[in-house]
Amino acid sequence: MTARGASECPACGARDVAPVVTTPLLPVIANSFPSDPERARAIPRVALELWSCARCGHLFNAAFDPALPVYDQGYETSLHNSAHFQAWAEKLASRLSALLPAHGGTVVELGCGRGEFLALFARDDRRCLGFDRSYDGRLATRAGLSIEARDYDPTRHGPLDAELVACRHVLEHLPAPASHMAALRAASAPRGTVYVEVPNGLWTMRDGGIWDLVHEHCGYFTPRSLASLARRTGFAVRSLEPDYGGQFLGAELALDPRADRATAPAVDPTLAARFATSLRTHLADWNERLAHELDADRRIAIWGAGTKGVTFLNALPRGSEIALVVDRNPFKRGRFVPGTAQRIVAPQDLVSQPPDLVLVMNPLYRAEIAAELVGLGIRCDVAVV
Ligand SMILES: [Zn+2]
Repeated sequence: MTARGASECPACGARDVAPVVTTPLLPVIANSFPSDPERARAIPRVALELWSCARCGHLFNAAFDPALPVYDQGYETSLHNSAHFQAWAEKLASRLSALLPAHGGTVVELGCGRGEFLALFARDDRRCLGFDRSYDGRLATRAGLSIEARDYDPTRHGPLDAELVACRHVLEHLPAPASHMAALRAASAPRGTVYVEVPNGLWTMRDGGIWDLVHEHCGYFTPRSLASLARRTGFAVRSLEPDYGGQFLGAELALDPRADRATAPAVDPTLAARFATSLRTHLADWNERLAHELDADRRIAIWGAGTKGVTFLNALPRGSEIALVVDRNPFKRGRFVPGTAQRIVAPQDLVSQPPDLVLVMNPLYRAEIAAELVGLGIRCDVAVV
């Protein structure tokens, strides 16, 4: 293992950084789902060496090697198959649409995935441009919408003069996020809005979101660290709020310094140490519970083959003994979990092999999943991890 260490905070640039905790071994890429179990098992696993910044609370993996995760076209993080998520995304898009001119206008999304979010802005008279190197061309074309399967490069593509630039769930993948902020600025019109969204690292650290730890996320932003990154790269922070049940942070940034109105709370100096303890406790508790369930021959299903599910299965020594992994995303179906190599099944596949216990990986989807199980005629215990 290479303990690379760190000399400064990737978000705020302060040199007040220190190690916090090392995780169990996790796949170098958690959200790319191979089509055969051998390839899933062959994905290398590494420990995250988490450090934190005393100035802004940013948590980051000091051992992160950007050469390890490969964002190919098997990379799949879409949550749009959840009705709960889709309704939330539509509400967000409607709020951001209010920033656009009544007619015409340009929306750019950097790291747009398959373009589901960008498509919510598509209209005949509006230009919607997406960039994502893992884009696989599977979104149906729609008026005004185009996606390039590459990163936005200001020198090649030129300025885009967009009234709205969205960048959702990208910055946490970048060991040097400050350099990406320059691309956001280049894409924006002088009076445009840059909407940035990341997982809420404060939720991960403070509220037990330990299953969000994943190798491809090398940074976990607090409100303070996101605001610091934005300000030191020349943006004004117009608003910065937790969203999606507290699990995301959404920030509206502007280029005009007079727009800076947001405040970000000071960092609790005990947060990092308490997080380290919480991580160890959660792992020990779930090791024990899982052993109890498996030794009683209970058939367990994990519902949600996303970051949380993949980390849960890999972080626990007996995770590979969990029989079933369910996901509603049709693009994951029939593919295999990185590391532990379970075949991902659809909810309806549970009917022929009903579980005794469904472990819901995200509390936000508990009601939706419980209703779906009832609809399928499956009676089993449901617990939130
Ligand atoms: Zn910092």
